[in-house]
Amino acid sequence: MTDQPVAAPYDVLFTPLPIGPVTARNRFFQVPHCNGMGYRDPTAEAFMRGVKAEGGWAVVCTEETEIHHSADLTPSIELRLWDDQDIPAVARIADKIHEYGALAGIELVHGGMHSNNLVTREVPLGPSAMPISGSLDPVQARAMTLGDIADFRFAHREAVRRSLEAGFDLVYVYAGHGYTGLQQFLSPRYNLRTDAYGGSPANRMRLLREVLEDTRELCAGKAAVACRLGVGRDGIAELKIGRHELEEIIGELAELPDLWDFVAGSWAEDSRTSRFGPEAEQEAHVAGLKALTSKPVVGVGRFTSPDEMVRQIRSGILDFIGAARPSIADPFLPQKIREGRLAEIRECIGCNICVSGDHTMSPIRCTQNPTMGEEWRRGWHPERLRERTSNERILVVGGGPSGLEAATSLGRRGYQVTLLEESRELGGRVRAESGLPGLAAWIRVVDYRERLLGSLPTVEHYLQSPTSAEDVLDFGFDHAVIATGATWRRDGVGRTNVDPIAWEAPDGVLTAEDLFAGVRPARTDLPVVVYDDDHYYLGGVLAELLAREGYPVRLITPAASVSAWTANTMELTAIRRRLIELGVQVSLEEVLTGIGPGTATTACVFTDERRTHPAQAVVLVTSRSSRSSLYAELEERRGEWAAAGLKSVTCIGDALAPGTIAAAVWSGRRFAEEIDVERNPADVPFRREVTRLALLD
Ligand code: SF4
Repeated sequence: MTDQPVAAPYDVLFTPLPIGPVTARNRFFQVPHCNGMGYRDPTAEAFMRGVKAEGGWAVVCTEETEIHHSADLTPSIELRLWDDQDIPAVARIADKIHEYGALAGIELVHGGMHSNNLVTREVPLGPSAMPISGSLDPVQARAMTLGDIADFRFAHREAVRRSLEAGFDLVYVYAGHGYTGLQQFLSPRYNLRTDAYGGSPANRMRLLREVLEDTRELCAGKAAVACRLGVGRDGIAELKIGRHELEEIIGELAELPDLWDFVAGSWAEDSRTSRFGPEAEQEAHVAGLKALTSKPVVGVGRFTSPDEMVRQIRSGILDFIGAARPSIADPFLPQKIREGRLAEIRECIGCNICVSGDHTMSPIRCTQNPTMGEEWRRGWHPERLRERTSNERILVVGGGPSGLEAATSLGRRGYQVTLLEESRELGGRVRAESGLPGLAAWIRVVDYRERLLGSLPTVEHYLQSPTSAEDVLDFGFDHAVIATGATWRRDGVGRTNVDPIAWEAPDGVLTAEDLFAGVRPARTDLPVVVYDDDHYYLGGVLAELLAREGYPVRLITPAASVSAWTANTMELTAIRRRLIELGVQVSLEEVLTGIGPGTATTACVFTDERRTHPAQAVVLVTSRSSRSSLYAELEERRGEWAAAGLKSVTCIGDALAPGTIAAAVWSGRRFAEEIDVERNPADVPFRREVTRLALLD
């Protein structure tokens, strides 16, 4: 990153600021965030964090790091500092961050009654005896004795010692998101104690104060201490902590940490998707708190606009621009702002696919940034691609997310690329879906790549260019990439119905594409049924769309909840709440069996009991069919390739197999990265860390 002074108006973002004994080089602060790699994939995580430091972040933090074996957060894959054996893994992360001149922060955690200890089998610990929080595991926590509290403090001190040994510059004391023992002690809901650690606010904050003092004593002069505290505009209702009390806690402990990191409510509230929360929405929760301390304050807001970042600092809300998701979507966000390359910012779309990695115990992924989590595994970099290795010319058919990513990434490598799109606009499903309620920010996936296309001299694209197999064979390209997307099925086939259904009243059947094209049911008093056997966001969004347009709507699904998979993007509760507010009727655990005139018939998934629902039309969101006929025909004509000069035909994205937008973008990137890589198909195509066997006695 250039060291040249930054011109106004963004210069304030690049003003160094001390945090206790260390100094941040600018105001860009990657707050702790989970990533699904943790103790299982520490080198992959180290490189992921390192890329952010390279991209200009002043502070780069780890995710939750379990301080003790009684802090086990299984099945989540977090970091561990249970004992000294764990130091090398976290030290590798600190080293990678330091390699690029950033400060390395570590977030220590004891989940208290959120730590279910599935691996370690320790009885969970809490301020009081009650069922554990955060999961439905049939386990209860026991109330910590004074001896347990002393052990807790000792374990935290040991973890601080190990963090310092590993080289971290900033050590977090974590009392936020409803996840930590320290926050449970603050909460009258969880803390029912009658001793010196319960009752009055002063007693309930006693443990947090002691741990902050312990951490400060150990870090003295070597590292800064951060306190991550859950806050809320009106307090945190589910923890029974009022705003006044939060301010009292911050006021009492104001000068103990070197930095305050304020987080809003639960993780789901703090990291709401763009469907449910705008950029900077946390301001309402954090505003006014900075006045309670002389120490610097960091907070998040899914910030991607540098103007908004400047406003946050100049108006005295924050000192550091905290970011998890914006740093995932664009690890080079600070550098691009510094160098005035604002058009190159790959803005987070607020979809929370990144969060799903943590919830599915798989390495982090990102819709906007296909290199996220692949920095070490596959050697991908968000800003750099290998130069082309030949003068081969490549045809990309289809301008949706996979085709756009393939074309732009190939262009960045210097390949000659022609992109053909049959419609009048680029973007495919992303363009269509970004017109739905709450999904406007998703168009950023297209906008970023369209801007990139315009800057790549070796890439040309043509709209309204339907392409046949004959065309592909005639054009004379060396390689053809088929990225023709997918369409929603009209025959009811999905996860539950595996055979096509002949509808009695097919005129009453609509698909998502019909709605995208503006087709609507006639206006009658009968409900429109949305049948969701897909279980991600679309069924719920289409129900919302129709309800907002004034249709009576019933959502039917075989699952036990609406939009069930969105539990992994932390949207489930918000979606359910919104559908209730919009008056959408919901029928759960029913499978669609028929569509007749004015009716939809279903069967209970458990008993097969038949039910009939009034329905003027049924919108099917079941599964998609790949639009792969072009690919299939080219495969059939493989014998003609050599004469046409065609060396390969590759199907990518939804045309290969429908999936998430993130998967489509990743598929395009993979093609561009691997077009000139020869590999034995039996070889694992990425690096991984394999457990080192213990020595046997
Ligand atoms: Fe943003 Fe979505 Fe990427 Fe997460 S996955 S960083 S929410 S674009």
